[in-house]
Formats: sequence, C-alpha cells, structure tokens
Amino acid sequence: MSKSTKKEIIKRLTLQKEIFGDELFIPKKTEFKSFEKESESVFEEPALFPEEKEDWEKSTSLDQLEKLICDCTKCRLHQGRNKFVFGTGNPNADVLVIGEGPGAEEDKQGLPFVGRAGQLLTDMLKAIKFSREEVYIGNVVKCRPPENRTPMQDEMDTCMPYLKKQCELIKPKLILCLGLTAAKGLLKKRESLGELRKSIFEYEGAKVIVTYHPAALLRNPHWKKDCWEDLKKFRKLYEEIAG
Ligand code: URA
Repeated sequence: MSKSTKKEIIKRLTLQKEIFGDELFIPKKTEFKSFEKESESVFEEPALFPEEKEDWEKSTSLDQLEKLICDCTKCRLHQGRNKFVFGTGNPNADVLVIGEGPGAEEDKQGLPFVGRAGQLLTDMLKAIKFSREEVYIGNVVKCRPPENRTPMQDEMDTCMPYLKKQCELIKPKLILCLGLTAAKGLLKKRESLGELRKSIFEYEGAKVIVTYHPAALLRNPHWKKDCWEDLKKFRKLYEEIAG
C-alpha cells in the first residue's frame, strides 16, 4: 500500500471516528473511487445498517404468512378491497399457477379464480390431468384493481415480494404463468406474450412456462388452440421433472 493511500485511510478513519465512535463503518467501494484499485480487498460492501426483515418475511408456513399480510395497506389497491386474495391449494404443490389479480368474484370470496375465468382455468388444468386441489393458485397482486384494470407497475412491485415468499414456502418445481402481467411480474421480462410462450424460464429453481390468461381466452377463443399446445408442453415438462 502506498504512503498516500495509508494517509488517506487514516484521515477518513479519523473523520469517521467523530461520527461513529469506535464502531467501524465500512463505506461503499464507489465512495472510494480515488484509490479504489489499491483498496479493493479492504473495503467490502457496507453492512452498517443491514435491512431489518419484516415479520412476514420470517414466516415459516403459508398460514402464518397469510395472517401477517392479509391487512396489508402498502399500495393503493387496499382501498377498494373487500377481501385480500392470498391464494389457495396444496401448500406442497409441485405446480404453482399464477394469475394477474383478483376480479369482482374473487374479491367477494377471498379466493383466486372463482369467476368465469376461474371455471375455464379449472377445465384447462383438468385437460392436463391436474386438479385445483393438487396445485397452488395465486396472483401477482392480492387485491382487486378498480374496474379490473391491469395492475400498475408500482402495485406489482409492492405485492411481488409476497408471491416470492409464497414460492419460497411452496417450493414448486413448475410454474404456469397466465398472461403477460403474471409473466412480467414474475420474470421481469418485456417481450410480448407471443415471444414469452416460446421459451422455458427459471424462477427460484422452478421451470416456468407462460401461456394465455383464461379471461383472454374467453374474449378470443381462437387462441385456445395455441394455449392447448402450451398446456401439453407444460404437462410433458411436469412428467420429466416431477412426475
Ligand atoms: N384473474 C386473475 O388473474 N386472477 C384471479 O384470481 C381471477 C381472475
């Protein structure tokens, strides 16, 4: 270490002592641009104020998680909420199905996919030999967006950590994303649904396939054929890795 670097370190440590007393404050490397090269091994990432985990992040079961987050007020969607729609199904499912967010019926019942799109989802799952009870069904946002509009980016960003935690507890082997919002929320991709359908992705150790949202299929029945191809691909993948 050169003399000037040593001098600089002493100067900064003395300055720090005035602010932090005897506790060692390790600043970000970027704050030391001037002698970054020489000090690379000395200055690690800061751990001065490690982020405190919220209680829900420490949940060890889905039931516990639901109790801790069901009164969430972190985004504007809670204002119009009748019921928080946490998700439902097998807590040890190999398959996690992800939708966009609750509609009117889901908001009324507190359960995902119980309206018209939900009936179609049940049939789609049945067609590839899954029952609703053996999979887990959840959404990117847990509260109904007004007028069933697409959730906004900040609403998705706020709610996604809950889905991530659900995924951590369920540990699915496969994930089926229904529609672009689910795919965007989970995978942070910007491609079109048409593009995303062509690939198999990974999320936290699970394989992810993207297909049409059942509500979109109700509006555009001619997409059902392509969706059926996706579902067969999903079943085949399931049999390869979990069957
Ligand atoms: N659409 C969704 O994306 N999720 C639901 O739970 C219901 C309809």
